[in-house]
Amino acid sequence: MRASTAGPVITLDGPAGAGKTSTAKEVARRLGLRHLDSGALYRALTYALLENGVPEERWSDLTLQELRALDVSQVARGGAFEVRVGGRLVDEELRSSAVTGRVSMLARVPAVRECLLELQRAAGAQGGLVADGRDMGSVVFPEADVKVFLVADLEERARRRVLQDGAADRDPGTVAAEAQAIARRDEQDSRREVSPLRKPEGAVEIDTTGLAFEDQVEAIVDLVRRLTG
Ligand code: C5P
Repeated sequence: MRASTAGPVITLDGPAGAGKTSTAKEVARRLGLRHLDSGALYRALTYALLENGVPEERWSDLTLQELRALDVSQVARGGAFEVRVGGRLVDEELRSSAVTGRVSMLARVPAVRECLLELQRAAGAQGGLVADGRDMGSVVFPEADVKVFLVADLEERARRRVLQDGAADRDPGTVAAEAQAIARRDEQDSRREVSPLRKPEGAVEIDTTGLAFEDQVEAIVDLVRRLTG
């Protein structure tokens, strides 16, 4: 893909807790691009189903029409996209344990992926985007200018999540429970038939285990400048 005048399309994929969203947001800010958090869209659909009391055993049979009726949308605002459900802004709600524990189950449903594909592609139609998720470089933006696959050790990812969630210390029991939850989500995301989590063709892998946040941002910004400059 040739970078449009609005700038390049950059994809950041990887397992849960690798720091994709915070990194993508900062990379976008530094390069003057927009940030798309695709996970937030899957979370918003999950939240909408829970809010509407749709029983979980029905989720895999939902039609495209039923999913569209849940009215998940996003609006470009500043450097990001605000996610809405039924026109109402949602943010904190998307991070609840109820949503996090169920989102991967919903994300493997083909109609769900189809429903959200259009929204994601529309966000990148003009270029100038940093998109993070599981299938950004493989399915949603296969022609992206720069593709990155972010990985980190499971325990390190769990530790970061625990701290990010506001815990005062890295209590080993809490970290172990978080590692289990992350591993379960990775397994579901990697094993599904449609758009599984995998390293996209042409992606540069960056292991962030020993990297400070600022260093991983810097590494990606440098890579983008080298490949698109
Ligand atoms: O990135 P985040 O942890 O918010 O993503 C939540 C979930 O949404 C993932 O575990 C995955 O099941 C799903 N997802 C996906 N494809 C994407 C982004 C997220 O399947 N591109």
